[in-house]
Amino acid sequence: MQIPFVDLKAQYVSIRSEVDAAIAAVISDTAFIGGNNKYVQKFEGEFAAYLGSKHCMSCANGTDSLEILLKAFGIGSGDEVIVPAHSWISTSEAVGNVGAKPVFVDTLEKYHTIDPGKIEEKITSSTKAIMPVHLYGLPAEMDEIMALAKKHNLIVIEDCAQAHGAEYKGKKIGTIGHAASFSFYPGKNLGAYGDAGAMVTNDDTIAAKARMIANHGQLKKHDHVIEGRNSRLDGIQAAVLSVKLKYLDQWNAARINNANYYLKLFSSSAIQLPQTPSYSKQVFHLFVISVNDREKLSIDLRSAGIETAIHYPMPLPLLKAYAHENYTPQQFPVAANTTAHILSIPMFPELNAAQMEHVVASIQKSV
Ligand SMILES: *Cc1c(COP(=O)(O)O)cnc(C)c1O
Repeated sequence: MQIPFVDLKAQYVSIRSEVDAAIAAVISDTAFIGGNNKYVQKFEGEFAAYLGSKHCMSCANGTDSLEILLKAFGIGSGDEVIVPAHSWISTSEAVGNVGAKPVFVDTLEKYHTIDPGKIEEKITSSTKAIMPVHLYGLPAEMDEIMALAKKHNLIVIEDCAQAHGAEYKGKKIGTIGHAASFSFYPGKNLGAYGDAGAMVTNDDTIAAKARMIANHGQLKKHDHVIEGRNSRLDGIQAAVLSVKLKYLDQWNAARINNANYYLKLFSSSAIQLPQTPSYSKQVFHLFVISVNDREKLSIDLRSAGIETAIHYPMPLPLLKAYAHENYTPQQFPVAANTTAHILSIPMFPELNAAQMEHVVASIQKSV
């Protein structure tokens, strides 16, 4: 049995006629790119409504969206932004790329999200924002983060790239902070057929600024108020996303069902399993386990026909990109330990029971 890590083909096949028709319509309208692209505007409206957010501003990808939001809030040179020590590099890269400094905070052992108890000690007079990441589909501890932000007058930008549709205490993630960033990279819970991203906020001023930055600094056509950039969602991606958004809740429910089946099948105490607090709806972008000997397990699983991945093998501050800061693993003990032991096993809505049984049996045989 061969079990891929994700199966985007299975998902495409299940919606083929709708997606093919949507793409064909964009082509026949030649609505590829453009300020008033109807497919882009339609998706922005639908995604804002899905989240319950006032504004959705689409852009080229989920890294641009973080950067554009930071700029829209006026964050740049001399400023500090608090980010988790364990995430995909986009989170800290966006901070560095606007000229600010990412300040890394260790993560929670149980949930892998930023440890709210370790944020305050990193706040200085230069701190402008906190960027929690809802890693693997599990919401970060937003009540504590928002309380700290309020106390210290900080902006909160949620990195929702891995958690479309997740909820924290009944609220959709992306609607709790001052603004939020989404990626529609193909493998994400809501994925386009190429690069795509979006920002959401209830703040009219930030929405207008973000839109302007993403569109060459134009307030209106040929009225370039600032130097912006070119970061656009195109018509084809927007049309694909409109089709797929209708299925997001159903696909998330299938991921949750699969996760519950995995959790039921595992019986070995040598495997640390994902945990979800009762107040959160976790949407299992990834199913990440932790074992003592990850190398051996991944090799054994490969021989059993099972693809795995590591998200991610090193804490952000220990990457070469930050070598000039001379960070040590001792400064981020939880993230350092987590990243040495985690392994992501196959997780996608179309995964079936026999596949999951084979995955779990193979893991339990190996550890
Ligand atoms: C995927 C991802 C991003 C960036 O998304 P792109 O669309 O690939 O630029 C940002 N943050 C996190 C946590 C991600 O997983």
